[in-house]
Amino acid sequence: MSNPISAKPAAKSGAHTATAPEATKPSNFLRQIIEHDLAAGTYATRRWAGSPGDAAHQATGTMDPARIRTRFPPEPNGYLHVGHAKSICLNFGLARDYGGVCHLRFDDTNPEKEDTEYVNSIIDAVRWLGFDWSQPGNNKPYQASDYFAFMYRAAEALIEAGHAYVDEQTPEEMRANRGDFGKPGIDSPYRSGTPAQNLARFREMRDGLHADGSMVLRAKIDMASPNINLRDPAIYRIRRATHHNTGDTWCIYPMYTFAHPIEDALEQITHSICTLEFEDQRPFYDWLMERLIEEGLLASPPPKQYEFARLNLTYVITSKRKLAQLVNEHKVSGWDDPRMPTIVGLRRRGYTPESLRLFAERIGVTKSDSWIDYSTLEGCLREDLDGSAQRAMAVLDPVKLVLTNWDSVMGAGTLDACSAPVHPHHPELGNRQFVIGREVWIERSDFEETPPAGFFRLFPGNKVRLKYGHIIECTGAKKDANGHITEVHATLIPDTKSGTPGSSSVKVKGVITWVGAHDGVAAEVRMYDRLFSDEQPDAGGKDFLEGLNPQSLKIVTAIVEPSLANALPDQKFQFERLGYFVADRVDHVQGSQPVFNLAVGLKDSFGK
Ligand code: ATP
Ligand code: MG
Repeated sequence: MSNPISAKPAAKSGAHTATAPEATKPSNFLRQIIEHDLAAGTYATRRWAGSPGDAAHQATGTMDPARIRTRFPPEPNGYLHVGHAKSICLNFGLARDYGGVCHLRFDDTNPEKEDTEYVNSIIDAVRWLGFDWSQPGNNKPYQASDYFAFMYRAAEALIEAGHAYVDEQTPEEMRANRGDFGKPGIDSPYRSGTPAQNLARFREMRDGLHADGSMVLRAKIDMASPNINLRDPAIYRIRRATHHNTGDTWCIYPMYTFAHPIEDALEQITHSICTLEFEDQRPFYDWLMERLIEEGLLASPPPKQYEFARLNLTYVITSKRKLAQLVNEHKVSGWDDPRMPTIVGLRRRGYTPESLRLFAERIGVTKSDSWIDYSTLEGCLREDLDGSAQRAMAVLDPVKLVLTNWDSVMGAGTLDACSAPVHPHHPELGNRQFVIGREVWIERSDFEETPPAGFFRLFPGNKVRLKYGHIIECTGAKKDANGHITEVHATLIPDTKSGTPGSSSVKVKGVITWVGAHDGVAAEVRMYDRLFSDEQPDAGGKDFLEGLNPQSLKIVTAIVEPSLANALPDQKFQFERLGYFVADRVDHVQGSQPVFNLAVGLKDSFGK
C-alpha cells in the first residue's frame, strides 16, 4: 500500500518521513490525538473513492491509503500572512509526519470577496513553503464552491427530517429573539411550520422568488441552549451575487458554519484543525455531522474539529482586512512590501521557507492564546542564513580612507589582490576576490577623532586591521568647511597582510570591514525596520495606523564588493559585521542595478 506523502521533505531535515515521525518531533496535543486515533484505528475503515463526495460515492472506494486527512482552507480574499504559514506548516506537517494527506481547499462559499489573483498567490505560497497537495490522479486544489449542489441537497434533507425551517422574521427580530448569555431565546413563529411548507419556501428561495435578506434557512436545534451558536443558527441566506466559480447558478449561499463541516466530510478529512475562535462552533459541527450521517448522506466516522491558538506576533498585524488597508492607503508599496508580514512580503525581505518552517516548529501549537516575540521569527531567519548565506563586504555609510604611504610602500598605482572565504564553514565554496589600493571605503562610524572609552577602531595613533588585508595606523582626517569629515588618513604597515607569515607581527584590537575604491560597486540598500513601533498595534480597538513606525524604511547608497554586483535576485548574503541582506527579487538587476534589502541584523536588537 502506498502512502501519499503530502509534502516534500524539508531541505534541512530530511529525517522526517512518514514511517518514523513520532520520535523526531516534539509532541503536542494534536500529535497526541492523532497518535491515539491511529492506535485505536478510529479512521481505519474509512474509504476513499479518489475524490470528494457523499457516503454513496465514498463507499465505492477502497480503504483510504491516507492514514489521516487534514486540510488548509483559506478564503481567497487576500494574501496569506505569517499566521497562515503557521497553519500551513501545521496541517501539511502533520499529514506528512503521519502518512496522511493535507488538502488545499479554497473556502470560496462567500461570493463577494474572492478573486483569482488571491487563489494564485495562495497556491504559490503553499508551494514555496515546501508543501504539495497533489495526489495520484488529482493535482488541483479543492474548491468549496464545487460542493454547493451537495450542500443544497443536505439542506433539503434537514428540512424533510424536521431539522431546519425557513424563517421570515426580520434580521432585527431574529437578533432580538436569540436572547443572550443570561436569557434564553424565543422561538420564531415560523419554527413550527411543517417540513412540506418549509421545503416549498426553501425552493422558492433557491428559485429567486424572494428578496435578498427577506428570509433565511435555520437549523432547528435549541433556542434555550447555553451555547448561542446552537440557538437555531442560520445555514442558508439569499444573496444575489455572481460567484467566481459558479457564476449566477445560485442566488442562495450556505453560511460558513454550515458549509465548512460539510466540506470536511465530503473530503473525508479526519482531523479538522482550526483556530480557537471556532471552539463554540464545534457543537454545531458535530450536530450537523450526526444529522447528515443519519440521513445517509455522509460517510461515517465523521471528521472532528480541534482548535489551537492562532499566532499573535508582536509588532505585527495579521488581519487580512487591515493588511489590505495598508496596501490600499499606500502605507506600504504593496502586498509584497518587505515590511509586510505576508508570505510574499517575508519572501521579498529575505525569509526562506526553511526559516518559516523552523519558526512554526519552534513556536509549536497550544490551546491558549499568547504573544510570540518578533525576535523569535528573526532568530529563525538568522539561524538559517548563518549556515547558508554567502559572505560579502559592504559599506553602508561610506567615507574614503586614504593610505597615504601606499605609493612608497606598495608602488604607485599598485592594486593588491585579496581573497576571503565565500562561507567560513564551507571551504568547498571557494573564495571571493577583490583588490586593495591606495583608497578604500570604510564606514563613517569606524572613525572617531576623539574616541570614546572602549573604541578600538580608527582614531589618530591607533592601529587596526582591514579585514582580509593589511594592518594600518590612523594618522588623522580631512574636513570640509563645516567640520564634516571628508577623508580619513592612515599609513599601511608593510608585511602585515592577512594570510602572510608576518600578519601577526603587529597586535591590534580592532578589525574593520571595507570595500576597495577601485573595484567597489555602488548599490541601493533598503534598510528596513519594524513597520509598527507599537508592540500590539491593533490591540484593544486602537487605530493601528497610529502605531506605524515613520522610520521603517531608509534607503542608502552603499558601496559593495564586486562579487555582489553579480548576485542573483533573491540571493541572500551576510554583509560582514552588518547583517543579512537579500538581492531584491523585484528591483535588483544582476550586473547593472544592485538592490539589496536588509533581511535581519546579526544580533537581536528588536527589544532595544
Ligand atoms: P483573516 O481574519 O485575517 O481574514 P482568516 O483566519 O479568516 O484570516 P482564512 O483564509 O479563513 O483567514 O484562514 C485560513 C486558515 O488559516 C484557517 O484555518 C485559519 O485558522 C488559519 N489562520 C488564519 N490566521 C491565523 C493565525 N494568525 N494563526 C494561525 N492560523 C491562522
Ligand atoms: Mg476566514
